[in-house]
Amino acid sequence: MKKATNIACHVMAKPTGSICNLDCHYCFYLEKEALYPERVSAWKMPEDVLREYIRQYIENQPSNYVDFLWQGGEPLMMGIEFFAKAVEISTELAKGKIIRHSIQTNGVLINDNWANFFKKNNILIGISIDGPQKLHDTYRVTRSGKGSYQKVLAGLETIKKHHVEFNILTVVGSHNVDHPIEVYQHLKALGAKHIQFIPLVEEVYPNNKEANPHITNLHVTKWTTPALAYGKFLTKIFNKWIREDIGDIFVQTFDSTFASWNGLPSGVCVTSRTCGHALALEANGDLYQCDHYVEKAHKLGNIKEETISKLNNSAQAISFGKNKYDHLSQHCKQCQYQFACFGGCPKHRFATDDNGIKNINYLCDGYFYFFDQTAPYMKAMKDLLLAGYSPSCIKTILSSNSQAL
Ligand code: SF4
Ligand code: SF4
Repeated sequence: MKKATNIACHVMAKPTGSICNLDCHYCFYLEKEALYPERVSAWKMPEDVLREYIRQYIENQPSNYVDFLWQGGEPLMMGIEFFAKAVEISTELAKGKIIRHSIQTNGVLINDNWANFFKKNNILIGISIDGPQKLHDTYRVTRSGKGSYQKVLAGLETIKKHHVEFNILTVVGSHNVDHPIEVYQHLKALGAKHIQFIPLVEEVYPNNKEANPHITNLHVTKWTTPALAYGKFLTKIFNKWIREDIGDIFVQTFDSTFASWNGLPSGVCVTSRTCGHALALEANGDLYQCDHYVEKAHKLGNIKEETISKLNNSAQAISFGKNKYDHLSQHCKQCQYQFACFGGCPKHRFATDDNGIKNINYLCDGYFYFFDQTAPYMKAMKDLLLAGYSPSCIKTILSSNSQAL
């Protein structure tokens, strides 16, 4: 009998579920509290779920490297003991595999104890910063409505003092999209070597009080980035990065686009042909298709009743993954940049095509602009690579000849 294929998956674990110590206006995860009303008193991932998750995830990973990604809500609200237990269990169950833990945090709770713990256990920290204080504090606020920037900065300085490896995640919305160079320079000044930009897109029903009054043909929240502005944001930063920082600073969107130009997997689900079996694990063991789809219809099951492997290989999970390409619009199929975009995230495909069908990505104008503006540079870097040079040599070419491209 033919052995069933085991499709690889990534899991983003949320040990506090949607519980967070900040109250960022744009956080789509806070509304998930409604899914779990019992959470008011019992929101922490219990130890039996933790152990079961770690055991199954290590067994499920086909390679010798196992990456645990902890996210939220705010994962540090679990306390050091929880993560010490996670490290202990994963070491105990590793079976010779190499384990790495990463935590995505808002940074507010980080102190010397945490930083010591991260360093000692080689934990990679992702910290969320939306740019300089006035931009960051627009939406990233505490539960009492005060800006969180100073607390985040103190957390970042602490992990830097302890030489903890970190990257910065910047949400790009209406608050910072018109300030690309200011944002980028700030992240550089903070010492970021790995940067991730995440576009803020949220559809709302018509007449919702949070709707953006400047975008009239589509109903999106006021913090949603205008589509073309997002493309311009990325392009302005790209133009600076390629002349000054390529090879020293890694920007995920630029790397993934270059990978696509070389016929390699982009490494990011949003620009991959299919959705990436990028599952989200809630504190009680419920497993969902994706962080963007933590909703009843997209729950795969609970890992205490069924294994991650079985849930990930279920017909429901496979068809969700394939839908991304199967439902690609004609507009995208005819697009010259389909290979680098694949219509983006299905969650954002709510703009209408010529027939009034909602299947065009809201960000399409921005994506197209970015791919088009960066195409000559991508081609040149690809040629360098094919000729046996590092793509970062383009920096020297551009500095010696400003007319080069
Ligand atoms: S739905 Fe969007 S975020 Fe989720 S796996 Fe697919 S592309 Fe990624
Ligand atoms: S740029 Fe627009 S048309 Fe082209 S693949 Fe992306 S979403 Fe589709």
